[in-house]
Amino acid sequence: MIFLSTFQTLGLSPNILKAIEDEGYQTPTPIQQQAIPPLLDGRDVLAIAQTGTGKTAAFSLPVLEIMNNKRHSNKSIKALILSPTRELAAQIDQRFSAYSTHMNISHMVIFGGVKQGPQVRKLSRGVDILVATPGRLLDLIGQGHIDISNVEFFVLDEADRMLDMGFIRDIRKVLQILPKKRQNLLFSATMPKTIAELADSILKNAITIDVSPKQKTVKRITQKVMFVRKADKRRLLVKIIKAEKVACAIVFTRTKHGANRLVKQLAQSGIDASAIHGNKSQGARTRTLAGFKSGDIKILVATDIASRGIDVDDVTHVFNYDLPNEPESYVHRIGRTARAGKDGIAYAFCDESESGYLVGIEQVTGKAIPRDESHEFHYPNAIPKPGQKAGKIKEKKNSKQNNRNKNNNSRNNNSNRRNNNSNNKKKPSQKNNHSRPKTSNKSSHHRNNSGRSRNPSRRDRSQNQHRDH
Ligand code: AMP
Repeated sequence: MIFLSTFQTLGLSPNILKAIEDEGYQTPTPIQQQAIPPLLDGRDVLAIAQTGTGKTAAFSLPVLEIMNNKRHSNKSIKALILSPTRELAAQIDQRFSAYSTHMNISHMVIFGGVKQGPQVRKLSRGVDILVATPGRLLDLIGQGHIDISNVEFFVLDEADRMLDMGFIRDIRKVLQILPKKRQNLLFSATMPKTIAELADSILKNAITIDVSPKQKTVKRITQKVMFVRKADKRRLLVKIIKAEKVACAIVFTRTKHGANRLVKQLAQSGIDASAIHGNKSQGARTRTLAGFKSGDIKILVATDIASRGIDVDDVTHVFNYDLPNEPESYVHRIGRTARAGKDGIAYAFCDESESGYLVGIEQVTGKAIPRDESHEFHYPNAIPKPGQKAGKIKEKKNSKQNNRNKNNNSRNNNSNRRNNNSNNKKKPSQKNNHSRPKTSNKSSHHRNNSGRSRNPSRRDRSQNQHRDH
């Protein structure tokens, strides 16, 4: 395929081109080159792309262009963008602010975790484009504050993450209320069968675009895995942060408690860090993110869900302080660095209990992560054994290491249990979760489904999931 090389040739109006110029964008990214023309032609699009590819502009520019041309007089919601997390929703709304700066089009964002009053007041004045998380959207529709019956353009962003977070029923509810005649765009970083089925039910005669970043992004990221005792991880992290004078990094922990604990431990070593996770108030999360973007906060300690959509171009280092139990999360995590054409380095700390997670990650990415065994905390027992299966490994009773870390592990396991009920409920199948990407995605949805049947309130469940990460 021959790509068009300028925004001018994509068919956008001068007021949008001016905004793009203000942003300093020179050439459209591949997803923009491929998605904007069919969307301007009124086609549905299925895009396999993740944050960092320029996907927000890929849908927001055509939405603005189509609205610009139609010159609607009424102030009903004409475009609805559904996003799984508050952070991502807020960032999409910020992008609409930037791209519509020379236009007379209104937009706003709504999400839970904050008072609804200001959102309701703004909605009552009328809005053209609404960016929303599913829970708050359905709440406000239920209360009669939002009418989506005039929506002409529907975007489902990060569909795979939506399903992982248990939003499928909310999405189906929204789809039932939306008018039948509308243009649709579905974005997903991965394309397991569940997403393909969802896409089938939403999209009509869609064009499929695949800019999955496996090679492209990953190429610019130097990856290293270091084998280390759990108890030595903190010292290893401190050493690297100091040795490499790290000034913009995200450190991923599996749990929010782990994130808080690490922030305190780093402070004891003279390193300022801030945590971002679902237990923090929305205000605190926004402040932390703003501080990280401005460079005041150099080290952000984050859980997976809270970090979703963090869009900071200068992140030089990503630390997988805990290896994720979902291999896809590894790909998302390391994609927080090497953005906007820059290089980045991603460290993975693998302790003895996590070697199966490493096997799963390498199966999904199809490549071995280069080993760095030259550091002083190298711990050979954490290296996966030949033929080791993907997934959680059972701890060996009575081993020296086990005794040494027993207290640590049980503390972590307890907090995991508290934090991630659904994950632990399905432990027996977890082993298989990581053998293939498809299976893994399916399993995680399955877990959510089983969680749902035990929990009578869907809204409570969604909110719990937010709180848990
Ligand atoms: P996204 O994938 O939408 O989260 O975008 C990732 C980053 O790329 C954001 O900081 C955008 O502002 C930036 N971006 C989007 N499109 C372009 C472009 N054509 N040229 C340069 N930067 C861009």
